[in-house]
Amino acid sequence: MRKFILDINPSNEELIEKIKCSSPGEIASGVKLARKAFKVWSKVPLKKRIALFKKIAKDLNNEKKSIGRLVTKEMGKVYRSAVGECEGTAYAIEENIKLAEKASEIEIFKEGNLVTEVHHIPIGVVAVITPWNFPVGMPESLLSPAILMGNTVVFKPSENTPLTGKAIYDIFNRYLPKGVINLLQGAEEVGEALLTSDIDMVSFVGSQAVGKKIMEACSKKLNRLVLELGGKDPMIILKDADLDKAVNYAVNGSLRNSGQVCVSVERIYVDQSIFSKFEKMVLDKVKSYKVGDGFDDVDMGPMVSESQRNHVLTQIEDAKRKGAKVLFGGNAIERKGFFIEPTVISNLNHKHDIMVTETFGPVICLQKVRNAEEAVEKANDSTFGLGATIWTKNSDKGRKIAEQIDSGMIGVNQGIGGVSGTPWVGIKQSGFGYLGSAEGVRQFSVPKKISYKK
Ligand code: NAD
Repeated sequence: MRKFILDINPSNEELIEKIKCSSPGEIASGVKLARKAFKVWSKVPLKKRIALFKKIAKDLNNEKKSIGRLVTKEMGKVYRSAVGECEGTAYAIEENIKLAEKASEIEIFKEGNLVTEVHHIPIGVVAVITPWNFPVGMPESLLSPAILMGNTVVFKPSENTPLTGKAIYDIFNRYLPKGVINLLQGAEEVGEALLTSDIDMVSFVGSQAVGKKIMEACSKKLNRLVLELGGKDPMIILKDADLDKAVNYAVNGSLRNSGQVCVSVERIYVDQSIFSKFEKMVLDKVKSYKVGDGFDDVDMGPMVSESQRNHVLTQIEDAKRKGAKVLFGGNAIERKGFFIEPTVISNLNHKHDIMVTETFGPVICLQKVRNAEEAVEKANDSTFGLGATIWTKNSDKGRKIAEQIDSGMIGVNQGIGGVSGTPWVGIKQSGFGYLGSAEGVRQFSVPKKISYKK
């Protein structure tokens, strides 16, 4: 087992800090503390838990600048977006509070004089394992529902953002009783050891590949699990689309956070009649994109790590070798840091790995299609099923096409988010279970029936 992880600034490759990994003994004692705390925390009334979470949300908002600086330093995100992530996460805590109130309601069923109450009781110790791309938002999306529903947690942030993980832990731990939240640091070995420890549930946000390993590990003790995994989101542009809006979404949706977003636009299918026009409009917009250190006035920072950058460059090379055309960018930027040029590739098809495997990089991938039917067929030709968008001035037609798309979250002439309180969900191999919504929060509990005659 590694003794240390190196926290590297992706903008200049400098070492931020050498972080000690949790030892097997520390993993076991973190889980033991969580188990002990569960006995008391699971009995604390929801109202009291909520009062503590309100303070957590307030502190997170107050500390958005210092935590935002950590995020930019550790994973390269543009600073204003990092601060925005903290603000959004404080808001998400308030949302999770409302959902937990709904999820905890006792349901009452009656049949003649027979009454059954269904209570939603906490599960126990929940392992929370998270990625680096939204290093504030992703931990919160699992920590809040788990703890609000009365569970205790052992939290392992990504090895790429350990200090941000510690900052979040510190805010939660400031108000929660000892042992309700416990922090582990380290990479996959620590995650693996946590999976084989005395836990009751795993909640995970990360890649499809690791999600499969987690499911396998959970089978040993039939641990409950929630997995939010990767995506390969298609964007379909029909011949009657509002091209200005579609181009904006295509470019920003592909390049936001250097493309390191689970619901990034990863493949764009454009009707042949408007393809050349769309391609030119995309190129014009991308040319103005400024890349650099996230603390400077830029649109895009570096990739999180050298290996992530190499993965993207390998996919670009594969596409070039198989006949695709790189219209813009396509290379690493020659300077310190893991920068890559914003890239536009055309002439693509599903023989290119970049149209099949998650890229998680700043690449705009264009494929020409004959019509809406072909676009739907291509969009569905994937093991992923997270988000998708459809662009047409005829929103009824767009809605009908949405019904044919095998994705969990679909936007017609807009992004995939939708109304708050609705599920954040991937279908096919993009997830197992889901977050958001009262039902999502309820997955961090089990139903318990009490029946009696009146
Ligand atoms: P990753 O799967 O490599 O790692 C995620 C976490 O799992 C890290 O903390 C890592 O240390 C840990 N881990 C790795 N191997 C493990 C193992 N064998 N056992 C236990 N833990 C292990 O993902 P990443 O590179 O950190 O993040 C990017 C991925 O996350 C992308 O695929 C992205 O689409 C996905 N993601 C999904 C959502 C969503 O809502 N669906 C949101 C954000 C990110």
